[in-house]
Amino acid sequence: MMGLMQCLPLTIGSVIDHAERNHNGTEVVSRGTEGTLERSTWGRVAQRSRRVAAALESLGAKPGDRIASLAWNRLPHLELYYGVPGGGYVLHTLNPRLFEEQIRFVLADGGARILFVDPDLLPLAEGVLAIHDAPMTVVVLCDRKDLPKSPLADLVAYEDLLAAAEPLAAWPDIDERSAAGLCYTSGTTGNPKGVLYSHRSTVLHAMSLCSADSMALSARDHALLLPPMFHVNSWGVPYASAMCGAKLVLPGSALDGASLHALIRDEEITFSLGVPTVWFTILDRIEATTTAEERAALKLDRVFMGGAATPRALVQRFRDLLGVETMQAWGMTETSPVVAVCRTAARHRDLSPEAHLDLRAKAGRCLFGSEIGIGAEDGSVTGPGGDNVGPLLVRGHWVASGYFGKEPGSALDAGGWFDSGDIARIDGDGFIQITDRAKDVIKSGGEWISSIELENVAVAHPAVREAAIIGVPHPRWQERPLLLLCLHEGASVSRAEMLAHLADHVARWWLPDDVVCVDELPHTGSGKVMKAELRHQFRSHLEQAG
Ligand code: AMP
Repeated sequence: MMGLMQCLPLTIGSVIDHAERNHNGTEVVSRGTEGTLERSTWGRVAQRSRRVAAALESLGAKPGDRIASLAWNRLPHLELYYGVPGGGYVLHTLNPRLFEEQIRFVLADGGARILFVDPDLLPLAEGVLAIHDAPMTVVVLCDRKDLPKSPLADLVAYEDLLAAAEPLAAWPDIDERSAAGLCYTSGTTGNPKGVLYSHRSTVLHAMSLCSADSMALSARDHALLLPPMFHVNSWGVPYASAMCGAKLVLPGSALDGASLHALIRDEEITFSLGVPTVWFTILDRIEATTTAEERAALKLDRVFMGGAATPRALVQRFRDLLGVETMQAWGMTETSPVVAVCRTAARHRDLSPEAHLDLRAKAGRCLFGSEIGIGAEDGSVTGPGGDNVGPLLVRGHWVASGYFGKEPGSALDAGGWFDSGDIARIDGDGFIQITDRAKDVIKSGGEWISSIELENVAVAHPAVREAAIIGVPHPRWQERPLLLLCLHEGASVSRAEMLAHLADHVARWWLPDDVVCVDELPHTGSGKVMKAELRHQFRSHLEQAG
């Protein structure tokens, strides 16, 4: 017997419709290039996104067409987040931090014929399109008067396009399983691969973000959106905040400590999210420029981190400096991204402050909607509690089944599991501990050394701003760890001092063979240290060792 309840499609249009009906006047704030703030509301975003959908129809777009964006976290990009999928098209977000050649590959692979671009990114688009075969309509996200000069013919001004469009009266009917967004993996090795999110996966993932053991996003929040809107849909928060009626603050392209601190203070931010590196920058700024009273006046309550391991030292700094809760999460482009979040349970109430910090430095426990396991060589999968180390596998409602252009299910094994490429352990309490990215694993004399654990200890040293451990070829041990350090301004630490610091926390044979200080570590477009590049650069570093 079937249930007798209504069954409505889980579509992105229905999310913004809800925000328009229930959170119409709630603010959405966007920072422009000169630092000016533009203020809109969820109601206005809803109206303008229906104009976007109508405008796309007038440009000749057909349902299912990919529509590309090359833009920062700004209001027009948010309007595309709703208008493009709401109208039945697929928003293909391009990462401007990739090399021109990679962007060209990703754009051609996605097959878009319409590109929306921020004015300051137009020179990049020109370079990309200079050797792009297919025709492209380029819409610049500005007023006609602000259109930059360009060798590209027939540039369209976004505001002209919207003004000429009659907003859709209602969103078209859309199958909830149809494609809504296309986002490419960072591609640190090989070409980036496209992950094709559906309306259903996007809506379910956003609902999960609002739950108490995830981000607990709500109408009481003012959320500052730091993950770029070209990286995994900004972790789903543009959709989740409309769903729950949070005020949303978009920082534009200025991600320096001073600009972000000003937004946190002036927009009374309660919740924010981003990769750990960005938080070091913000905390350095706050620590250096504010008094204890000014820090106490901040409304920041919790921060959500992912994309890389959150060092214990960062959790501690947030607690001690600002009294803020850090929530580490695990996920990836292929998982929408949030699968696991590190929040405590009732059984952790009486933990000591130190044990609490240890717990917070784990990657989190699995939320409803996904299932995780550790794979073994014989093909078996162990769920939480197994305590064995191996490939972290995942399956669920918002996990990719195949990459763009490939068959459904082609990215999965026979059990329907997606191999994340991370090496992990799931402890008896259900918390994931990532020990390495499979391709970054260091194997020395046949034994594994966890680069993440070593890096976490290294950044706990007060002189260290950022640390990366890489495996470099060694004549006797095949590979040995090399520690690369980026220090705080004016700080110093000797090799012997750093090795003594590490020796207090890790096995002796894990100690790096050398410590090298560098001015900067190279990062990918999504803020990860580019270890492949470092491995290449330092490949001969230990050649003379014996
Ligand atoms: P991306 O697809 O660019 O979002 O990268 C996903 C990868 O980031 C994962 O496969 C992990 O290697 C890494 N990652 C994400 N969250 C964590 C975490 N909490 N701890 C360690 N690594 C993480």
